[in-house]
Amino acid sequence: MKKTIFLILSLLSVQLFAQDYFQQEVNYIIDVELNDKNHTLIAEETIEYTNNSPDDLDILWFHIWPNSYKDNTTALCKHELDGGSTSLYNATEEERGNITNLNFTVDGKKVDFNYHPEHIDICKLILNKPIKAGGTIIIKTPFKVKIPNAEFSRLGHVDQSYMITQWYPKPAVYDKNGWHIMPYLSQGEFYSEFGSFDVSITLPQNYTVGATGDLQNKGEHFRLDELAEITDTITSFGTDMSFPESSKKTKTIRFIQEKVHDFGWFADKRFHVLKGEVKLPHSGRTVTLYTMFTNNEAHLWKNSIEYMHDAVYYYSLWNGDYPYNYCTAVDGTIAAGGGMEYPNVTVIGASGTVRALETVIMHEVGHNWFYGILGSNERDHAWMDEGINSYNEHRYMRTKYPNEKMTDNLPKIVTKILDLKNVTNKNIMGEMMYFMGAWTSKDQPIDFPSADYTGMNYGGIVYSKTAICFDYLAAYLGQDVFDNCMKNYFENWKFKHPQPKDVKAIFENKTGKDLSWFFDNMIPTTNQLDYSISKIKKGPKNLHITLKNNGTIPGPVVIFGVTDGVVSKELWVEGFEGTKTVPYINGAYDHIRIDYNGEMPETNRNNNIYKTKGLFKQCEPIKLQIIGSLYHPEKTQIFFHPALSWNKYNTTSVGMSFYNRFIPKGGFSYKLSPMYSFRTKELVGRGNVSLTKYSHSSIFSKVKLSVDAEQFNYTSENAYKRFSPSIDLTLNKSSLRDKKDHYIKASYIYLEKDNEKGELEFIKGNYTFSNARTLHPYSLHLQLEKGGEFTKANIIMNCNYHLNQKKRLMIRGYLGYVNSQNSTYDLQMSAWNGNMDYTFSEKSFARSEIDGTLSNQVFIREGGMKHITNNMTSDNLLTSLSLDYNLIKSLKIYAEAGTNGDKFVYGTGLQYYTSGLTIYMPMYTENGLFNGDDFLNGIRLGISREMKMEIFGM
Ligand SMILES: [Zn+2]
Repeated sequence: MKKTIFLILSLLSVQLFAQDYFQQEVNYIIDVELNDKNHTLIAEETIEYTNNSPDDLDILWFHIWPNSYKDNTTALCKHELDGGSTSLYNATEEERGNITNLNFTVDGKKVDFNYHPEHIDICKLILNKPIKAGGTIIIKTPFKVKIPNAEFSRLGHVDQSYMITQWYPKPAVYDKNGWHIMPYLSQGEFYSEFGSFDVSITLPQNYTVGATGDLQNKGEHFRLDELAEITDTITSFGTDMSFPESSKKTKTIRFIQEKVHDFGWFADKRFHVLKGEVKLPHSGRTVTLYTMFTNNEAHLWKNSIEYMHDAVYYYSLWNGDYPYNYCTAVDGTIAAGGGMEYPNVTVIGASGTVRALETVIMHEVGHNWFYGILGSNERDHAWMDEGINSYNEHRYMRTKYPNEKMTDNLPKIVTKILDLKNVTNKNIMGEMMYFMGAWTSKDQPIDFPSADYTGMNYGGIVYSKTAICFDYLAAYLGQDVFDNCMKNYFENWKFKHPQPKDVKAIFENKTGKDLSWFFDNMIPTTNQLDYSISKIKKGPKNLHITLKNNGTIPGPVVIFGVTDGVVSKELWVEGFEGTKTVPYINGAYDHIRIDYNGEMPETNRNNNIYKTKGLFKQCEPIKLQIIGSLYHPEKTQIFFHPALSWNKYNTTSVGMSFYNRFIPKGGFSYKLSPMYSFRTKELVGRGNVSLTKYSHSSIFSKVKLSVDAEQFNYTSENAYKRFSPSIDLTLNKSSLRDKKDHYIKASYIYLEKDNEKGELEFIKGNYTFSNARTLHPYSLHLQLEKGGEFTKANIIMNCNYHLNQKKRLMIRGYLGYVNSQNSTYDLQMSAWNGNMDYTFSEKSFARSEIDGTLSNQVFIREGGMKHITNNMTSDNLLTSLSLDYNLIKSLKIYAEAGTNGDKFVYGTGLQYYTSGLTIYMPMYTENGLFNGDDFLNGIRLGISREMKMEIFGM
């Protein structure tokens, strides 16, 4: 009954929806001429715009995207900068691009246009009179494009190799939700109206062009055939990448295509050409295939027609036949990813290996279906193109190369040592990409605006998570049912603009199932899937298995009985919340296991096995694993590696580190590093246990309760014990792309030293605000500290000022206050050495050295002067300022000054830094040249955290 009502309702909604659906039509005629000396396009464009909407339109929004390369005010430039790329921001005028000479007429009469107030790559035509509902107008304009350098995004040239995309004035989509204007971005794609293109390209005769549409010129067809014949006979392609002289004579070649929503073209004088064809699986129609490539990776492209063939074939088979006559892939360098799709034509970047090239070619060709034919709004719902396409990509690779694994490329010894033998490509490319974000609450929903993703999530969520979620849906529905749904979706929505709810309606209609757990939960939220088995009761005929949903998605769950590694029949259980007991046919199973085949994107797989015999039914056997590995669904992993530590008093200590987390994840974690000191012949080492909770929704994105403990010697005779519980808090932020972070840390330190009576206790509170923006990042630290004999407050400001593309000015400002009864705790003007670190918080080679080589290991704390001041300290206030500037790679010059109110110190010197090590060399200080002493004694040494981990055995 429920099902029937549900079916009727969803049928009704499809019907209702079909009635208010409309779609504008935009037909283009463009004549364009390429000038390959000054890298410009001169063009005339005629657009026939038909208003199929029920509204009269008095304006038309246009995208004029070459302007996104014009200056640093564009959304493209800002978004790239925000994401950490400064190449467009620092571009020269010559490298930039733009679109000019616009002069719009509508039906022969001039119309005004305004630039969008915020985005110069969008403009608005003010129509002299509205286009009535159902009316058609003819819009004309000349335009000139200055082609930018190809290193920024998708439109561009590398010398005389041209990638002409997003290049002409184009009306934005107007649909029932209104206008969809969007500035051009690299991260985030497109949404365009369907129509026809008739494009004539004039350029020097010796260029070869791959483009959208059917080539209309017999002579050019003949030329391509000739090139293909020649390419077929080449056995060795050579390495020449130089550009031949352009022909004096030009040619005009014409491409026509219907039912597409974009037109891209690629021109190069060096292209080799291969030609082939594919017979479509359903209609039997033949499609002509071309690949065009330079010598750059010609050896990889040898079999490229096969990749084109298989891509067109499998996508047609699984989703519906390719509706066009030609499909082309060209080799070109683009900055936005490994490849880029346009209707009928795709551009492929350097790939490195045959398999990578095949993957990119088939992926981009696949976009003809998911982007090209099914014209969804990619900017708002990137999963509908990139995600569903990635599902097809993974399926293609699995189908064609069922026994091939990425780990096969690793040396056998590595695969063995790191326990990667059973790791599948899906584990790596699908699951890990998603899990790493989900385990630390750094993931974002599958349905999310493209521009708001972090760079990591645009790949890990849009592509990877969508692909594995559709795997799950297909496994649950059955591949045939799933394929029927996709074919139905394709038939119903080809050459249209489907929305997420249209995909849902098709799937629910075809299957008669309520799929809201998928389309309304898994797709638009960061909720997680996690089931476990909580109980099994044996009945006479059946096992009664109680399943528990520990996650936040009531998706279906599949269980198997496993005997000696052999699985019995799978049982899919419809999703639920809480617990549910299901019957499963009785057998002599070793255990019952959830998701034996790894089809469910569960974020916790360590609770999926329940033994039918024995005592510890839910315990998975322990697996000792050197260094680290991926997660293991059947084992409890304990990782280990040898630990080695050195300090002056224990000398070398050797031991082992044991830990349970290799990839960051919430929950309980430990790392214990017991060691044996060869000098003191005693047990030394350190350990940490912590409990971490990550969250998307609470005020803190991370809460970590942690206890550190360590024991080493601090003099030749005396050892210390240090014990420090702490709490770390990271504030959540409204957007993960936000570069501003707030951290709070509170810790208690208990220090027991062998020869000193009584123990030392300290309490520390820290607050850090950091803004890791690409230009001029800075941070602010506030610290309060209380010990038995003092109270201290520190303010530190760090600023990294970008003078230009390469030069940086680092500024550190410090202000400290202390109220102390013991001079040990006075504020120090010089950077600390091990001896000044009274809480034993730093990793020091020698905690008790006042002078000598080992005392030159420095920690930039308090006043932080890199030169040794004459014991300048303060029992009240102390302030300092230091600057450094990178002269050349690895070499900085610094200047510093500070005062304690009484006296003034200053210095300048050089600072050499290389992998983990910084060497400070004072040149001139308040004491004179070389700090008034010989040069060598003034040299001090800083060691980075990473290097400390190696030396100090953490
Ligand atoms: Zn893609």
